[in-house]
Amino acid sequence: MTTPAPLNAYLNIAVPVPLDHSFTYRGLAGDHDTAAAIPGCRFLVPFGRQKLIGVMLDEAPAPDLPAAKIRAVLRQIDSTPIFPATLMALCRWAADYYHHPVGEVFGSAMPRLLRAGEPLDLAERILQPLPAALAELPSLAGARRQAALLALLRAQPEGLDKLTLKQATFSTATINAVIHRGLAVWSQRPVQATAFNPQTLQVNDAQVQLNAEQQAAVTALSQHTSGTWLLYGITGSGKTEVYFRAIKQALAAGRQVLVLVPEIGLTPQTVKRFRARFAAPIFVLHSGLSDRERLDGFRAASNGSAAIIIGTRSAIFTPLRNPGLIVIDEEHDASFKQQEGFRYSARDLAVLRGNLESIPVILGSATPSLESYQNALNGKYRLLSLHKRAGGAQPASYQVIDIRNQVLQEGFSARLVSLIAEHLGNNNQVLVFLNRRGFAPALLCHECGWLAECNKCDARLTYHQTLRALLCHHCGTQQPIVSNCPNCQSTQLVPLGAGTQRIESALQALFPDQPIVRIDRDTTRNKGAFKNIIDQLGDDQPAILVGTQLLAKGHHFPNVTLVAIVDMDAGFYSADFKATERMGQLLLQVGGRAGREQKPGTVAVQTHFPAQPMLRTLIDDGYPVFADQLLAERQLNDLPPFSHHTLLRAESDDRTAAMDFLTGLQRQLADFRAVAVLGPVPANMERRAGRFRAQLLFSSDSRRELHYCLDRCLQLIDSANPARAIRWSVDVDPVDLF
Ligand code: ADP
Ligand code: ZN
Ligand code: ZN
Repeated sequence: MTTPAPLNAYLNIAVPVPLDHSFTYRGLAGDHDTAAAIPGCRFLVPFGRQKLIGVMLDEAPAPDLPAAKIRAVLRQIDSTPIFPATLMALCRWAADYYHHPVGEVFGSAMPRLLRAGEPLDLAERILQPLPAALAELPSLAGARRQAALLALLRAQPEGLDKLTLKQATFSTATINAVIHRGLAVWSQRPVQATAFNPQTLQVNDAQVQLNAEQQAAVTALSQHTSGTWLLYGITGSGKTEVYFRAIKQALAAGRQVLVLVPEIGLTPQTVKRFRARFAAPIFVLHSGLSDRERLDGFRAASNGSAAIIIGTRSAIFTPLRNPGLIVIDEEHDASFKQQEGFRYSARDLAVLRGNLESIPVILGSATPSLESYQNALNGKYRLLSLHKRAGGAQPASYQVIDIRNQVLQEGFSARLVSLIAEHLGNNNQVLVFLNRRGFAPALLCHECGWLAECNKCDARLTYHQTLRALLCHHCGTQQPIVSNCPNCQSTQLVPLGAGTQRIESALQALFPDQPIVRIDRDTTRNKGAFKNIIDQLGDDQPAILVGTQLLAKGHHFPNVTLVAIVDMDAGFYSADFKATERMGQLLLQVGGRAGREQKPGTVAVQTHFPAQPMLRTLIDDGYPVFADQLLAERQLNDLPPFSHHTLLRAESDDRTAAMDFLTGLQRQLADFRAVAVLGPVPANMERRAGRFRAQLLFSSDSRRELHYCLDRCLQLIDSANPARAIRWSVDVDPVDLF
């Protein structure tokens, strides 16, 4: 426990403003009624002409300025910190690591109502006796109820809460009369939260018999009380059951568990599964909650009354009174990385938090990210593997459809159309997967499969719509778009990934009599919408589901027997080096969503590269071999996780301003030997919402050197005071390079 600073000390306070340092204030001397200043308490402070709510970081040394020049805080909001020391350390580390203003980091860590100054502790109104009531018995002859109330107050001088008053059936009139006589007064008393009691914990796992692999994983987990685990288990191998046993163990010891799931994974199905297993207080934190509900969850976690907190990305900042375990399900999922504003990785912060709290962290996935997989191989994480399916469902089988030089009907080959018709004809459902993510398109020859590559780098060129050119995102080389394939002279050169937009209408034309259900962010935004869609699709009714990445997560579609991936090459042959990893993850994940015991699923993949070695490896040898090969390739090319990337993005209204701004910075950073500052290049979608976007890529083997270089870069930006028309942002460990 930190010792409180005396009230008249100087305090460093993180104020929610876009500046990358904290501010020094004078504490309150004198008659303030709270204990004293402790890091993690909120303060109301003057800032310019505004009043803002900041979080105290620590005590500041006496500044060089005369005391009168330092402004004093206006009010201390919390008498006990809202963030314990471990979370203070986590947030401060995150501000440094992600080069994000510390005040804004704390701002994102708090629910909105705490940012607005609401108390964290619950308070209740109590009726308290005043001295006159306790001194001698005042005469209340003729006021029987008032006399009764007075007697009760004398018996319980610490005060009566509303429930007690109600149970004793005192009317408002009686209470007001006693108050009016100067005998009692309403006051506030903090509600003492009680930590959940492990004695009352009930776990309904009597019917579940772990298989040998699961048992081995659970045994290994129970032998260590800290450290990071990678639980690699194919889809359907029963990872959840392993989480459940580890969670049970933590809860039984009276400790709390934080479970993070991908945005889309937080379905009613998931929550139901937890509630069915654990009769204990479970709180769910996600973006669909009201501000009040969010605060309730935060409070329950922080005062220890919640046993399990299930949440999406931002729940990583939820304080726990008795932390015991953190689980990250589908740890490879891109939604754990915040892609705007404060661009943090909740997965990476979870690993750090586990260290700070000295508790275990389990990262689970059927398709682990290469970063985590590499950490398991090099011994930073402990690896647990589940290779066998636990439940009834059978693994999906994969069919590769060669579409080189085939006539395509809006993207569909004749073979795929007949396959879809066949499955629908058997009263089954078909899931058509659209790959809408921002893959950087390469230029492809439809006849022979040639791809445009940079002649200076080992990288594919990116097809750039607005420039009408081919760009290398590594060295910045620009080449005109060729009109004939240099390999076979064909004129059928197409950008990969083009045309997915038309797939839905094409399906409507091809299968006019089948219901087509679209599943995307728009149709599932509202609470329960997803469930409605699923319910609508009766059990034995043929239907076509069309959807994007959303479909690859969480939900199981037992009646789907065919998953069709119309355009996979955009994933396997993107100029983004991470595209292959993502495509592999997606292929296995969608395969795992379909089918059941009696109805195994098929995944049909259309491609110009049927013999693509990575595709074959994935399908024939499985994910670990696929990942090994990708890692070898990354190592050879000195790409993450063997080096570290950061993107500096800039945008402006003016066509050249963003590029010029980044070019200027790059020149000034040329003396950093250990850091390659690459580019700048126009962003893949150069013009968005009327603004022109460009980016600079920082790459280094040493995180330390990379951070020095970024610090220097931000200083340069600060002192250059760029035209206000330029907006810029830093993205450390970017998920998308383009
Ligand atoms: P994963 O998360 O690894 O994809 P799940 O945990 O969802 O897999 O498990 C897949 C299915 O297998 C679920 O229906 C689950 O109830 C079932 N299952 C898990 N473990 C066992 C087991 N030991 N015995 C029987 N069924 C199991
Ligand atoms: Zn060709
Ligand atoms: Zn190049």
